[in-house]
Amino acid sequence: MTKPIDIRNPRTGKYDYVIIPPPPKLLVQLCNRLRRAQKAWEQLGLEGRIAALQQWKQAILAGRDKLTEALVADTGRLSISILEIDSFLSNIDRWCQLAPELLAETEKQTAVPFIQLQQTAVPYPLVGVISPWNLPLLLSTIDVIPALLAGCAVVVKPSEIAPRFMTPLLNAINTVPPLREIFTFVEGAGQTGAHLIENVDLVCFTGSVTTGRKVAEAAARRFIPAFLELGGKDAAIILASADLELATSALLWGSVVNTGQSCLSIERIYVAESIFKQFVEQLVTKAERLQLAYPKLESGEIGPIIAERQAAIISDHLLEAIEQGAVVHCGGKVENTGGGWWCRPTVLTQVNHNMKIMTEETFGPIMPVMAFSKVEEAIHLANDTIYGLSAAVFAGDEAEALAVAQYIDAGAICINDAGLTALIYEGEKNSFKYSGLGGSRMGTAALMRFIRKKALLIKTNSARDPWWFDG
Ligand code: NAD
Repeated sequence: MTKPIDIRNPRTGKYDYVIIPPPPKLLVQLCNRLRRAQKAWEQLGLEGRIAALQQWKQAILAGRDKLTEALVADTGRLSISILEIDSFLSNIDRWCQLAPELLAETEKQTAVPFIQLQQTAVPYPLVGVISPWNLPLLLSTIDVIPALLAGCAVVVKPSEIAPRFMTPLLNAINTVPPLREIFTFVEGAGQTGAHLIENVDLVCFTGSVTTGRKVAEAAARRFIPAFLELGGKDAAIILASADLELATSALLWGSVVNTGQSCLSIERIYVAESIFKQFVEQLVTKAERLQLAYPKLESGEIGPIIAERQAAIISDHLLEAIEQGAVVHCGGKVENTGGGWWCRPTVLTQVNHNMKIMTEETFGPIMPVMAFSKVEEAIHLANDTIYGLSAAVFAGDEAEALAVAQYIDAGAICINDAGLTALIYEGEKNSFKYSGLGGSRMGTAALMRFIRKKALLIKTNSARDPWWFDG
C-alpha cells in the first residue's frame, strides 16, 4: 500500500480530502493494460474516436454541476472554474473538427516516376500527462484531447494540490465503453509522476523548471519524447505612444487573472519614463477596484492562493523587494483570512533586477513597474531572464509595437493586449530558454506530437531500378 495524501482546501486551509496513489506495481499493470487496449482504439478509426469523445462531452455536460463543485473545492474560485470547463469543452469540439484533415493519409508520386509514396501516421501507444495545480482541469486535458484523437491511450496524473476534479471526469469516462479502456486518471504526487514516466511512451509535462528538468532527464534515459511546458516571468513593454487607458486595463487582467497563478501572467512591467507617473496612477486606481472573492465565493475577482507553498513564495518576494526599497502602491502582503491565503492586486515601483520579484517566478497578483528611457533598454530588461514563455508590447501604432516584439525572446507576444494565449489556441508557439522544450502545444502542430509519420515507398513497375547492381 502507498501512503494516503491529505489535501488542503485553499479557502478554509482545512485538510478535507484524501488521495491514494497507486502502488508502483499497480501502476505498471494499469499502463500495460492501457497499452494493450490501445490497438483497438486505433483500429476504431478517427470517426469512432470522435464519437467517443463527443459522448464523453455529453456525459460531462450532464454532470457539469459536480465538476464545477469539485474544481471550486480544488481552487477556491468560481468564475475561472467556469471558464476552465467552457474552454475544455470547446477544445473537444475544436479538435474533433480539425483532426480529420490533419490525420488524413496521403498518397503522392515521388520524384522517381515508378516509386509512389504513401504517408501514414502511427500513434505513440501510451501517452503520460503530468499537470500542475493552477488550472487543474484545463492543463490536465489540453494535451489529452489531441492525443486521444491521434489514437493514443492516455494516463493523466494531475497535481496532488488540486485533485478533486478527477472523480467527476472519471465518472464521465466510465460511461463511454471504448474510452474507459484506454484513458484514465491516477492520483498521486511527484513519486507517482516519476513512476509514470518509466511506463509510458511519450510524456507531456506542465509544471516548474525544477521538475521539468527531472522529467526531461528521466525521459531521455528511456529515449521517449518529452514535451515540457514550464514556468515564465512574462514582461510587458509600454512605449510612450501607448494608449494608457487600454494598456492599464489589459495589463491588470493579464497580471492578476486567476490571482496571477498562470504561467502566462505578466510579472514585470517596463514603462517609458515620460508616461510612467500617469501609467502607475491609472493602474493603481483600477487595481484598487478589484475585490477578494471572500467571504462569498461569487463576489469579487480575486480568488485565494491555491497552493500554500506558493503563498510563502509570494510573501518572500514581496518582503525582499520592500526591504530593498520597493514602494507599495496597493496590496503588498499575503494575508490569512478564514484559513485561506489571499493577496490583493499589488502595484510596486522602485524595483530592480536585483530583486526576486523581477527575476524569479512569483505566480501571484503582483505588478512591479520599472521606468525605461530608451526602447533598447526596455528590450534588454525584458530579455534579462532565464524564461521565454510570452510577453506583451503596447504602442500607439501596431508597426511600432511589432518592431519591438521581434527582439523579445519569447514564444508568444501580445500586441496591445495581454494574456491572450489563455484564450486563443490557434497560434503555434515554442517556449524559449528554460520555459519549455519540444513542439508547440498550440495550433495544429500540437496533434502531430502524438504520431510518428511512416513513409511507405512503393515500387509500381516491374523493371530493374537503374541504381541496382548488375547480375
Ligand atoms: P511542479 O513542477 O511542482 O509539479 C507539476 C507536476 O509534476 C505535479 O503533478 C507534480 O506532482 C509532478 N511531479 C513532481 N515531481 C515529479 C517528478 N520527479 N517526476 C514527475 N512528476 C513530478 O509544478 P506546480 O507547482 O504544480 O505548477 C506550477 C508551475 O507550473 C509554475 O512554474 C508554472 O509556471 C508552471 N506552468 C506552466 C505552464 C505552461 O504552459 N508553460 C502552464 C501552467 C503552469
